[in-house]
Amino acid sequence: MNTLTFDNQFVKQLPADKVEENYPRQVQGACYSWVKPKHMQAPAMVAYSTEAAELLGLTEQDCQSREFLNVFSGNQQLDDMQAYATCYGGHQFGNWAGQLGDGRAINLGEIVNNQGQRWAIQLKGAGATPYSRTADGLAVLRSSIREFLCSEAMYHLGVPTTRALSLVTTGEQVVRDVMYDGNPAPELGAVVCRLAPSFTRFGHFQYYAQQESGLLKQFVDYTIKTDFPHLLKADAELGKEIYLKWFQEICDTTCDMIVGWMRVGFVHGVMNTDNMSILGLTIDYGPYGWLESYNPNWTPNTTDSQHHRYAFGEQPKIAHWNLYQLANALYSLIDEVEPLEKILNGYAEKYHGQWNVMMLQKLGFSQALGDEDNELIQSLFAFFAEHETDMTLFFRDLIHIESKNIGDAISTLKSSFYAEEMGDKAKALLEAWLEKYQQRQAQDAISSEERKALMQRVNPKYVLRNYLAQQAIEKAEQGDNSMVHELMMVLKKPYDEQPEHEHLAQKRPDWAKHKVGCSMLSCSS
Ligand code: AMP
Ligand code: MG
Repeated sequence: MNTLTFDNQFVKQLPADKVEENYPRQVQGACYSWVKPKHMQAPAMVAYSTEAAELLGLTEQDCQSREFLNVFSGNQQLDDMQAYATCYGGHQFGNWAGQLGDGRAINLGEIVNNQGQRWAIQLKGAGATPYSRTADGLAVLRSSIREFLCSEAMYHLGVPTTRALSLVTTGEQVVRDVMYDGNPAPELGAVVCRLAPSFTRFGHFQYYAQQESGLLKQFVDYTIKTDFPHLLKADAELGKEIYLKWFQEICDTTCDMIVGWMRVGFVHGVMNTDNMSILGLTIDYGPYGWLESYNPNWTPNTTDSQHHRYAFGEQPKIAHWNLYQLANALYSLIDEVEPLEKILNGYAEKYHGQWNVMMLQKLGFSQALGDEDNELIQSLFAFFAEHETDMTLFFRDLIHIESKNIGDAISTLKSSFYAEEMGDKAKALLEAWLEKYQQRQAQDAISSEERKALMQRVNPKYVLRNYLAQQAIEKAEQGDNSMVHELMMVLKKPYDEQPEHEHLAQKRPDWAKHKVGCSMLSCSS
């Protein structure tokens, strides 16, 4: 652990809150407050990610040490660590919420690894901060397992994300009312250590833009120098030109992230502007979910069950809306609407282009052939709307269609259908679709082997299905972490067949359809 080289630019370069006591308050003119993690009674290791540890230059032996457990539960501070919580705001469900901030995240500092990469280290659930408002700054095992497993699963799927280094239980009880229905109960406390080049959110800029102290410019310049150094030209003054390039890059990386979500069937669940990373990383795994049957209107978040603002199919639009809010925050530095608008319009175009390419790849096509492709994609969605179909399994089964016979093809797809019987309308839609699909395949330049390889690279077999995460949680709550480990191992190779783990690539069982924790998640965590 003494190999960790801290450089802590965030606290070195940015203004600190003058108040050092830890109580809830409004903070002005500062980017962060000093705060120490809470001492936990009896930390115990649940899981760690070897791949994430490597980013810090930590070995397997390090991860198994007592010191690792102490440090990443928040009980021990290494010499060069400087712990702090940052101040940000955000739009929650479309409304400006004012100051939010790291209410239960405590940053331990940033290290630079031996490849020159910067990694910020953050504990989630390590105790209250000045930004905790009326809450406790803690996290429970249930939500921490979900964050830990999903961060690493997303990384292995190739979707940009913050990483998870470790998951520990604290030995303390945390009271939560899971469904907000007046039934609070004690749960096991836990801390996840997460890593990212930076945890800066859209909401940081939004909050500083409302203050008069030049804080916005200071923070923007810091962010560009630290997280986007490739945008700096030698000797060039930081100014409008670079700010616009930077905003363009934020739109591009956000777009890449959303296309990734749409490809693998991920629903974030709470795309508030404070949950949008400036680096285009999936951040803050709360009431997220994975599409089972393909349904663009689905959201796992019960807080959003009325409006479906953050439903699967809304995510590209919401990301665009969030980028608008960021543009508003940055406006004073650019002082011209048009270039910002141009970049924002470009997002929509870029998204449609990339989404199209992604969908064609999922279908196993190597090139776009125009409007007919759009029709093919739309008629597939028309079938999905008529017959409940597991998105992940469908695209995976599609790889294995060998025969031109439509009946054979339908049998190959059978494992992805939720209902035993298929109605006449659905059958007609599917048959027509398969015919067109096979004709379209014949027009593509790609060989059958290449097609399969392409489809296998973009259509995962294993995702963190909602009910699997819930099963792992229920076992872990009884002291059995084996399923957390099993899922972690399998989700390292989501595109591989792994026939010995076939049981983790099955459609959602009936019992999980309306179960809390599976299809319904609250923000209580
Ligand atoms: P979220 O939408 O869950 O990412 O959180 C919104 C805001 O609430 C952020 O400022 C969080 O830091 C804060 N927050 C969420 N849970 C807690 C908690 N248990 N204690 C303190 N602050 C929290
Ligand atoms: Mg958040």
